[in-house]
Amino acid sequence: MAYVIGIADPLHDAGLEWLRTRGAQLIEGDAALDALPHLDALIVRSRTKVTREMLQQATRLKVVGRAGVGVDNIDLDAARERGVIVVNAPQATTEAVAEHTIALMFAAARHIPQADASMKQGRWEKKRFLGLELQGRVLGLIGIGRIGAAVARRARGLGMYVLAYDPYLPAGVIAERGAEPVPTLEALLNRADVVSIHVPLTEETRHLLNRETLAWMKPGSILICTARGGVIEEEALLEALEEGRVYAAGLDVFEHEPPGATRLVTHPRVVATPHIAAQTQEAQRRVALDIAAEVWNALEGGSLRWRVV
Ligand code: NAD
Repeated sequence: MAYVIGIADPLHDAGLEWLRTRGAQLIEGDAALDALPHLDALIVRSRTKVTREMLQQATRLKVVGRAGVGVDNIDLDAARERGVIVVNAPQATTEAVAEHTIALMFAAARHIPQADASMKQGRWEKKRFLGLELQGRVLGLIGIGRIGAAVARRARGLGMYVLAYDPYLPAGVIAERGAEPVPTLEALLNRADVVSIHVPLTEETRHLLNRETLAWMKPGSILICTARGGVIEEEALLEALEEGRVYAAGLDVFEHEPPGATRLVTHPRVVATPHIAAQTQEAQRRVALDIAAEVWNALEGGSLRWRVV
């Protein structure tokens, strides 16, 4: 019998085709959530929350595939209890997110979106857009896993000096990834001119950047986050921007998405993008093919490369 696979969030055609040619029956969009009791597999991105209640309804479900890295939108405990496998596609989006991180650094340091908006209103405001150079500055990475390491490689090429705080990695591994290991978050924030966050959202990392820790940042520094909303306490960041402790911020992720035109999003020294760090043609194709193959392996009882639960 053909497997029934729910595709709750948009997935690149390459992945859909891959599954169809193997005979799978695909149910796309919200219809996938209406068909929970019939699904053998469910594929989501970050938008759909896979809750305990959904897993209870999905009595045939063998596997949940997350087309991307972060699995904070899936109730992993509930999946574990029900014997549902959870897989992700952690490598497919690394380079796209690293490139977007660097793009946000330049956009924030050189006020590129603001300058473009001003020109589109017919203005020519050279003095207003005095910026900072990245070359020669210290980049502090919070988390140096796949994406952090890819950012470190690019930052060194730009002439930045890279520090990293990652208590779960041995100092030797951090050094191999091209960064000086620093033992505490405080030490990192004290020294970095640009801080970039690359940790997953967990109970431990929620509001890792809060009033107390943001006060450790060097006055005039830049903060970038392409990891997850919730790692930064947004009210506290807004205050730090208003006080000038944080010079500018580049944010791709927000505590509540979409956030709307909040005071943080509309702040003149915030560059905001709508969770698009992984949205490249290349990454979306790769992620769809990776998750299709991994979900298929789980259904067929094959060996798994990226099993989370
Ligand atoms: P990864 O697992 O390879 O790396 C995460 C690193 O964070 C690990 O080295 C881990 O040791 C470290 N870490 C965990 N807790 C920490 C803490 N408290 N302090 C410091 N370091 C800590 O993951 P990755 O592939 O590099 O992805 C990182 C995150 O980026 C993902 O979890 C995801 O939430 C986010 N992401 C966002 C987008 C986007 O579209 N904006 C796309 C992909 C991934």
